[in-house]
Amino acid sequence: MSMVLSRPVRSVPVARPSLTEAEEQAVVGALRSGWVSQGPMVARFEHAFAEYAGAAYAIAVSSCTTALHLALIGAGVQAGDEVLCPSLSFIATANAIVHAGAVPVFVDVDQSTFNIDPACIQAAVTPKTKAILVVHQIGLPADMDAISELARRHNLVVVEDAACAAGSMHGSRKIGSPFGLSVCFSFHPRKILTTGEGGMITTDDALLAERLRRMRQHGMSISDLDRHNARKLMVETYDEVGYNCRMTDIQAAMGLVQLGRLESMISRRRELALRYTEALSRVDWLVAPVEATSGRHNFQSYMVRVLPHGPVTRDQLMLHLLEQGISSRRGIMAIHREKAYLKASWDEKLPVTNRITDSTIILPLFHDMSDDDQACVIECIEQATHRP
Ligand SMILES: *Cc1c(COP(=O)(O)O)cnc(C)c1O
Repeated sequence: MSMVLSRPVRSVPVARPSLTEAEEQAVVGALRSGWVSQGPMVARFEHAFAEYAGAAYAIAVSSCTTALHLALIGAGVQAGDEVLCPSLSFIATANAIVHAGAVPVFVDVDQSTFNIDPACIQAAVTPKTKAILVVHQIGLPADMDAISELARRHNLVVVEDAACAAGSMHGSRKIGSPFGLSVCFSFHPRKILTTGEGGMITTDDALLAERLRRMRQHGMSISDLDRHNARKLMVETYDEVGYNCRMTDIQAAMGLVQLGRLESMISRRRELALRYTEALSRVDWLVAPVEATSGRHNFQSYMVRVLPHGPVTRDQLMLHLLEQGISSRRGIMAIHREKAYLKASWDEKLPVTNRITDSTIILPLFHDMSDDDQACVIECIEQATHRP
C-alpha cells in the first residue's frame, strides 16, 4: 500500500440531477407570479408533456406513487382484485396496488431485459386478476406487443409504470402514448426529468382524464384555475372521495424547462451508456445491459450483471469502486423479499428476479458526468479483473 503518494481524491456519485440557470429562473418566475400552487404553469406543463409523449391528455400529480394509485383506481381496480406486476422494481410499484385496496401478484422477469416476462404472465392470471401494472424498468420499454395481446385475451386493464421511462421509445412510439389505459411517470431527482418531487399520468381517455383531474384535488368538480378565470360565480361539488395529489406551479415551471432539455439529456446519457457497453465488452465477467431491439432506451440507469465465476462478487466490485471514490448501487430491489411483502411461496416462483437482484450493480451515469470520470470507472472495473 502506498502511504506517501497522495493523488487527488476522486468523488463520482452514482447519479446527480442536471439543473441549470434556466430551471433557477423558472422557479423564481413562478414565485414572483404570486401563483405557487397548482395553476397556469401546471396546465402548461401538462400540455407540453402530452404533446411530447404523444398522448391526448396529461394530468400532473405529486409523485409517480400517487399517479399509480389514481391510475389504478381510474382503471376500476377495487378491494380484493389482483394486479400483476414485477417484484423486480422499486417498492412503490407494489405499494400503489395496496393503496388501491388490491393485492399485488408478482411475476418473474426476463433475465436480459429486466422487464416482466410475458411467458410468466399466463400462469399468474386467476379469476380475480383485474390489471397488469407493467414497469418499463430503468427506461427499457417492456414487450408491449406480447403483453397487450395477453391482456386482451384475459380481459385485463394495462397500466404502465413509466417512472424511469420519460423519453424512452417502443418502436417509433414514445412511452407515454398509452398501450393500455394510462401511463405514470416520476419526476423524482433520481429520474432523468425532475421537478424535485412530482409525477404525471398520460391517457387517451377523455372521461378518465376528467376523473383523474377531480380525484387529484379532493374530488372537486372545478379546479382553482377555472374558478379564478371564471366570469361568473362558480360553486364546486364533490361527487366522490378524492385525494390531494397536486403538483405546485413552482415544480411545473421547473418541469417545463427540464422537458425542453430532455432530448439533449437523453443524448448525453446514451453517449455515456454506449461507451460503457463498448468498454465493458472486453470484461468477460460482466454483462452489459441490452438496447431496445427497436425503439430507444433512455438509460435512466446503467445496470450491469456480475457473472458468478468472475474474479469479484457484486459486493466486492462495489467496495473496490468505493475505494477509488466511485459510488455505485445494488441493482433493482426484489419487493417480495421485503418484510412488507414477505410470503414464503414467492421466492420459488421468482428465480430470475432473485438472480438479477443479487448479481446486478448500477454504475455512475448522469448528465454532467465527465468523460474523464467515466474513463476512471472503466479503468477501476478493469483493475478488478486483476485483483488478487
Ligand atoms: C421511482 C419509481 C417509482 C416511484 O416514483 P416517485 O415519484 O418517487 O413516487 C415507482 N416505480 C418505479 C419503477 C420507480 O423507479
